[in-house]
Amino acid sequence: FRILGIETSCDDTAAAVVDSDGNICGESHFSQQETHLEFGGIIPNVAKELHKLHIKSVVSYRVKKKKIPVNDLDAIAVTMKPGLALSLWVGMTYGKHLSVEYNKPFIPIHHMEAHALTPRLVYKDLEFPFLVLLVSGGHCLLSFAKSITEFYTLGLQLDDAPGETFDKVARQLKLRNMDMFKNKSGGEAIELAAKSGDPFNYEVRSVLSGKRNCDFSFSGLKNAAFRRIKEAEEQYKVKASGVIPNYPDICASFQYTVTRHICHRVQRALAFLEMENLITDPAHKKLVISGGVASNQFLFQSLTKVCSQFNYKTYSPEPALCTDNGIMIAWNGVELYRTNSSRIIHNPEHLYLVDIEPKCPFGVDWRQKVVDRN
Ligand code: ATP
Ligand code: FE
Repeated sequence: FRILGIETSCDDTAAAVVDSDGNICGESHFSQQETHLEFGGIIPNVAKELHKLHIKSVVSYRVKKKKIPVNDLDAIAVTMKPGLALSLWVGMTYGKHLSVEYNKPFIPIHHMEAHALTPRLVYKDLEFPFLVLLVSGGHCLLSFAKSITEFYTLGLQLDDAPGETFDKVARQLKLRNMDMFKNKSGGEAIELAAKSGDPFNYEVRSVLSGKRNCDFSFSGLKNAAFRRIKEAEEQYKVKASGVIPNYPDICASFQYTVTRHICHRVQRALAFLEMENLITDPAHKKLVISGGVASNQFLFQSLTKVCSQFNYKTYSPEPALCTDNGIMIAWNGVELYRTNSSRIIHNPEHLYLVDIEPKCPFGVDWRQKVVDRN
């Protein structure tokens, strides 16, 4: 069977078709990033209009490119939660329209579950349970994945998400004003710049180290980086559009502090899983890292070291699958369709039963359990 996936939860209009064996039969993607960069952030109304403008061509391009008529698809999977209300609405409306017009089952998708399940498309031997770390522009969380629909949250961000802080620090450094970083995301720019910097030129702060949980906090690290940038700007008397000469050191130390914090939290989560005997089979001792920040190699390698102490292996899908895309939605649709999940709406007359949920939890909250166990 073949499932169409539609994703519009944030600023990417994306669609893909994935078959029951996990083959990607086609995909397309329209990123609104350039427009939003001009405005200095995502304006929901602008995002909505751009989704409306592109959704039809994104979906039909994907279908036609591989000559798959909508009629030959078996179901339509659409991101319904969480995300920007106005953006989610466009995908849902278009998905429901296709479902009614072609009389196809409709599969509501949870965006975070889709991120967490994407690695199973790439690593066919990745079986439940496993530990998943989602690090992206909007999220940071550690989840114990027990089945396609059962997730237990061990740690959650208390303030900013890591990708967001990479973007903000990169903006504060004005890295985009340099040609070598022009077309890079904040995170990519910092990773690249950090290669020639010394992380220990600055004091490295630790965060939440006294807290016996796996939660994350990045805003303190971000503010510390902001202060250093300001000090350096005054010290070197840089012009309004200028970049401070010691930017590689600042990037390296920021990346290092973020990585160290994430590693500490993951270490605690692994200790919790051990204590609770939640993953006993050595073949299941796996940490899956997903989300845009997962493509940071310094972070991945550091996590690999931490995991090896617990005999865990690390996995991360290629960057294109880690960031928002249509494939992950279609794949989550495949996973739900092949288990005949009760979430699937088979009768288009019942579509009114499902609606978007811009703010919604991801799985069961086990964070208190983590504290109690420590
Ligand atoms: P969400 O999926 O939570 O809604 P999002 O769509 O903004 O958030 P993604 O598309 O998953 O996030 O990832 C984009 C983020 O990943 C950006 O903040 C970007 O800076 C960050 N990122 C990309 N590459 C790297 C890298 N090499 N190192 C660190 N961060 C990176
Ligand atoms: Fe996402």
